[in-house]
Amino acid sequence: MFVGAAGRWCRRIAERREKDAEGGRPVNHCTCRWNSSSVGERIRQYTVGKKIHGFTVNQVTAVPDLFLTAVKLNHDNTGAQYLHIARDDPNNLFSVQFRTTPLNSTGVPHILEHVVLCGSEKYQCRDPFFKMLTRSLATFMNAFTASDYTMYPFSTQNSKDFQNLLSVYLDAAFFPCLRELDFWQEGWRLEHETPDDPGSPLVFKGVVFNEMKGVFANNENLYAQHLQNKLLPDHTYSVISGGDPLHIPKLTWEELKSFHATHYHPSNARFFTYGDLPLEQHLQQIQEEALCKFHNIDPGTSVPIQPRWSEPRECHVTCGPDSLAPDPAKQTTYSVSFLLGDITDSFETFTLSLLSSLLVSGPNSPFYKALIDTRIGTDFSPSVGYDGSTREACFSVGLQGIAEHDIKTVKQIITKIIDEVIENGFEEERIEALLHKVEIQLKHQTTHFGLALATYVATNWNHDGDPVEMLRISEKVARFRQSLKDNPHFLQDKVKQYFKENPHQLALSMSPDVGYLENQTKVEKGKLQEKVNSLSLEERQEIYKKGLELIAAQSTSQDASSLPALEISDIQQTFPLTPVEMSYVGEVPVQYCSQPTNGIVYFKAFTNLNTLPEELKPYVPLFCNVITRMGCGNLDYRQQDQQIELKTGGMAVSPKILQDNDNLDMYEQGVLFTSLCLDRNLPDMMQLWMDIFNSPRFEDEEHLRVLVMMAAQELANGIPDSGHQYAAVRAGKTLTSAGRLQEMFNGISQVQHMKRIAEKPELLSVLRKLPRIKMHLLNNENMRCSVNATTQVIAEASKEVEKFIRNIPGFGKKKKDKKLIRSNITEKALNPEEAGGEVSAGSGATKKLVFEPTFKACQMKTHFQLPFPVNYVSECVRTVPYMNPDFTKLHVLARLLTAKFLHREIREKGGAYGGGVNLSHSGLFTFYSYRDPNSIDTISAFRRSVDWAKAGKFTQEDIDEAKLSVFSTVDAPVAPSDKGLDRFLYGISDEMKQKRREELFAVDHGGLVGVANKHLTTGHSTWGAAILGPENESIARDPTWVQR
Ligand SMILES: [Zn+2]
Repeated sequence: MFVGAAGRWCRRIAERREKDAEGGRPVNHCTCRWNSSSVGERIRQYTVGKKIHGFTVNQVTAVPDLFLTAVKLNHDNTGAQYLHIARDDPNNLFSVQFRTTPLNSTGVPHILEHVVLCGSEKYQCRDPFFKMLTRSLATFMNAFTASDYTMYPFSTQNSKDFQNLLSVYLDAAFFPCLRELDFWQEGWRLEHETPDDPGSPLVFKGVVFNEMKGVFANNENLYAQHLQNKLLPDHTYSVISGGDPLHIPKLTWEELKSFHATHYHPSNARFFTYGDLPLEQHLQQIQEEALCKFHNIDPGTSVPIQPRWSEPRECHVTCGPDSLAPDPAKQTTYSVSFLLGDITDSFETFTLSLLSSLLVSGPNSPFYKALIDTRIGTDFSPSVGYDGSTREACFSVGLQGIAEHDIKTVKQIITKIIDEVIENGFEEERIEALLHKVEIQLKHQTTHFGLALATYVATNWNHDGDPVEMLRISEKVARFRQSLKDNPHFLQDKVKQYFKENPHQLALSMSPDVGYLENQTKVEKGKLQEKVNSLSLEERQEIYKKGLELIAAQSTSQDASSLPALEISDIQQTFPLTPVEMSYVGEVPVQYCSQPTNGIVYFKAFTNLNTLPEELKPYVPLFCNVITRMGCGNLDYRQQDQQIELKTGGMAVSPKILQDNDNLDMYEQGVLFTSLCLDRNLPDMMQLWMDIFNSPRFEDEEHLRVLVMMAAQELANGIPDSGHQYAAVRAGKTLTSAGRLQEMFNGISQVQHMKRIAEKPELLSVLRKLPRIKMHLLNNENMRCSVNATTQVIAEASKEVEKFIRNIPGFGKKKKDKKLIRSNITEKALNPEEAGGEVSAGSGATKKLVFEPTFKACQMKTHFQLPFPVNYVSECVRTVPYMNPDFTKLHVLARLLTAKFLHREIREKGGAYGGGVNLSHSGLFTFYSYRDPNSIDTISAFRRSVDWAKAGKFTQEDIDEAKLSVFSTVDAPVAPSDKGLDRFLYGISDEMKQKRREELFAVDHGGLVGVANKHLTTGHSTWGAAILGPENESIARDPTWVQR
């Protein structure tokens, strides 16, 4: 996960579990209505001064906009701070954060974050954190290291689970074992390349060591890190809290333990709870299991204010060249950054963040016009805009993808724009659009609201700001409006003060150096050599012994029985249904779903691309990317953007491949339109969609180039962070016909395709393809729509949707007149209740699927040689579609293999940041590893896991844990905006889900061994593999691998 100026490092791959069989969307749910609910009643018992379980209440504040009440408390004996947010939401969250302010780049807070979760006094077994993943119904579990704090959050909807997890988290944070073996495994160690071969060379290993190598393989991360270090050079922000791979091997185990003793103390802790569970119970548990054992100390962790510079500074750094850069001759990044004010001033923070948006967000902002539209570079520089992740906030603006000689031009433009803004200010309509955005954000219920709040207040609170003050957003909006009224130059004055007259500014440039990676490797080798040379014979023997010891520890089966766990009987047999209503406008089906949406309407539409000629298909992602950004009707692209900002919460289009539930050779191919707006703005939003469908503007080649460059840059930058996904998509390319299209739309092929477009000297030929694609996609002939809104609004919404459908191309055309352009299209009933047989054309609502019965899956192994210091490895197996009874077994098996085999082999022993296997709706059983020092060995671990499964070497407890883990995704909360989406997209009804659920309960040992034999045996099934990573001799020698 990447936030703010520098990175934030997590304990495990963020959001991994959400990408799963149930459609792969993020999730949430909360009814979030503030009424005389139990939560409200209960919270009224808390009054200022009241003492409960060692805590004293010192503030109770209702925040009606967010339907919540905030209770602030202090722990009497230790001074620990506590914030409880009472809200009628069952997705309860806990988090504890510590202020961690390192003064070197050994990554001590980050390694500590990993190691504390490896075992504690009460829970001695190795790695309770990962073990709890399969013993609970947690909707979220992770840990983060930011620049100046470390945070441990989890959420769950089950109260027993909450207590279980709280107990494990408290014990981990306050009483960890911090064993030396765990430090070696998670942090760094010297070990023989092959640990049981003392003749093999000594190398550096360790999870964080490899994780951080992967982080800085991404040039954007590298730039952002340099920027923070150099703009705030005098204290903790001058070092890398996550760890510099070249400095990590300096950290000792003793230093790690002493950092824990001083920083992980209640006097340096902030506790946060959220949700509908009673506060009193949390306080009691926290007091009894942790805080009662401590006394007050002065942790001395506060961060001093950065001494201000009297002169602006300049700095230059280098990075590795990017082989996927849109223009290899333009790979320089340059920005100017300004140190702003103290973030604990919450109104100033609010104002400056709005001001920053006005300066850099969207095509109407002055910096976009002056920097992006002039096409000097490909995109804004990393960390552009406001950044409040440090004690004092920063603002940064600049470009990436520029030629080195353009640095001066960029600099001049920045100065000029600042002067112009001071002179002219901002248009009133843009300010309105921004405040409208704030309003929508308040009402739109995203997934994991509790987690969003916890991270929203974390930085400010970390520096002793008032977290409750931050939540009172409506009051800030009002004060902001008043300030503008009182002083029309309010914003201009701020620009003058913080930008024009601020000498604390840094001009940072970064350009590639061909020898960069080689040099990094050389330095690392030098450090290694230095360490190795200094070893005595005993020390060498000790290392060999320790290596064996670690393997032995990793290999012994662990008694996890001390850990609390939910049982299968804690899971409900059924789940709450989501009723939807279908209606038709002509032949266009519209699905309505009444939900408590807080006054927001969510409109979605899906159209298929069956008639689109093959040669246009690779351009569909580009088409989707630009179609809401090129202008429409009477609006040019700037006016269109303004209108979208003023009237909606966003309008987006994306390609979608929907695998059929019954047949792996069948899928729907199309495009999904999504949007949201306040109830009152629905007519305006539907008018915008109508204009986009009827008269999108495809005339501005210059603007298209801007969008193409940004898209190409974004894709290239995304590979180091999502390498495992690219590897997985590639590995699945030859296994299903949907997989082939997936690779074209979302794989490395698409990245390369965009790069080729970006390199074209003229884009007229590309521009001319867009209206052709439009003809096939933007009509209602094969469309279906869905609306999620409050009950009261649905009648009004249906009128607007009907008007839209009647007024876009294709309406009223008889289906019979239309010939299917390709013979391989088949029809299926749209409503799952009617599905089951194929339907003759024209009888009721249908969807048209691509059907390729003659598709032959074949094995293909591809190695993409990329200049990364780590690998991303994936292997896919073609298995069964969603409705096949074996699907559920394979789904459980995937969790079982991940938790009981692959985690140990790939992460613990192999030193990769992550690894496991997923089964998605695509029917592909997908093994993966992330930031992995190994490649071929990892593939062999994938294969061994299958042998392990076939041998049936797992217990009933293992199976139950894997089931729990599947249920935690199946039952994960869904946001009101996404209710009914599985039905709308995939035709999965509640009845079908219930059937899967019953099968899930019934999965047993024999069934799991059976599916492993039946579907995962080479020879019976087809496998595909892909590796993204550095040059590799053994792969190069192996003729079964294709090198790219
Ligand atoms: Zn980490």
